[in-house]
Amino acid sequence: MDYYALPIANLIEQLSKLPGIGRKTAQRLAFYILEMDTIEVEKLANAITNAKKKIHYCSICCNLTDTDPCHICKDDRRDKSIICVVEGAKDVIAMEKTREYKGLYHVLQGTISPMDNRGPNEIKVKELLNRVYEGEVEEVILATNPTVEGEATALYIAKLLKPLGVKTTRIAHGIPVGGDLEYFDEVTLSKAMENRREL
Ligand SMILES: [Zn+2]
Repeated sequence: MDYYALPIANLIEQLSKLPGIGRKTAQRLAFYILEMDTIEVEKLANAITNAKKKIHYCSICCNLTDTDPCHICKDDRRDKSIICVVEGAKDVIAMEKTREYKGLYHVLQGTISPMDNRGPNEIKVKELLNRVYEGEVEEVILATNPTVEGEATALYIAKLLKPLGVKTTRIAHGIPVGGDLEYFDEVTLSKAMENRREL
């Protein structure tokens, strides 16, 4: 790191903290940024700070939003009797792309993972239960990823929902085990929703 002037070293270090960005890519990005027009660099920096400042969790579904409630929770045309539970905001986008699902969402913001010391209190389970308690919900679709953590999270939530008398379903396994919802094509994801089974 001593080869670089301190501000460059600092930029490389910050960039390399991003997922999928190794040391080499961070270096390339840093030098690219230094060659950009000052105004473009400011736009980039502002976009980052602004997104971080303006985006927060929807007070109903815990999705990332700049309004509260988010545009999906606010939409009167959506079916309020059905909630699709996903791990993250990217999964909502994947599901919306299928254009077939018309219910609401609940975004857990993660999974339960004892290996990583992540318990139920670290994700938005309590918020989901509160929504079901309110009584308008008839079905909860558990659409967490088909990974070990995703399955464990789905089973845990299903157990909590059982005494509440709400229909609980799990999306089908047409999707590869260990996969990530956001990478499934729309047809696969539509099929997985169609073939969901009751838990
Ligand atoms: Zn919402």
